[in-house]
Amino acid sequence: MTPEKEEYLFKTYPIFDRNHERFSTGFDCEDGWFNIVEGLGRRLTLTVKVNELKVIGIREKFGGLVIDVEYHDDNWSDQNIDSILRAFYDSSLYTCERCGADKKPTESHCKLMNALHPNPRD
Ligand SMILES: [Zn+2]
Repeated sequence: MTPEKEEYLFKTYPIFDRNHERFSTGFDCEDGWFNIVEGLGRRLTLTVKVNELKVIGIREKFGGLVIDVEYHDDNWSDQNIDSILRAFYDSSLYTCERCGADKKPTESHCKLMNALHPNPRD
């Protein structure tokens, strides 16, 4: 993700733990998922109590948004949080990572791919 967007996300949503080593390379996905990641930050900030949970990494894997979280208490878990994380992951499957356009989960990029970004990850 571009440095300006990353800086905005880290500053606006401290729930993203920028000091964690998994964030040493920033948000490891492309700008098309910015709205998803921002929505995640906002949603978790509204849902989670301070220090209950931190997001320690954001990355793309097999076409989906992987959200790594760390709970303050290892024994604590919350089905509500699990379903929130699942919903944002699902949303990423339907969103082109490069440009943010709608796509099918079976497509790696949107239909505009050939016109807009013929070489994924260039
Ligand atoms: Zn696209």
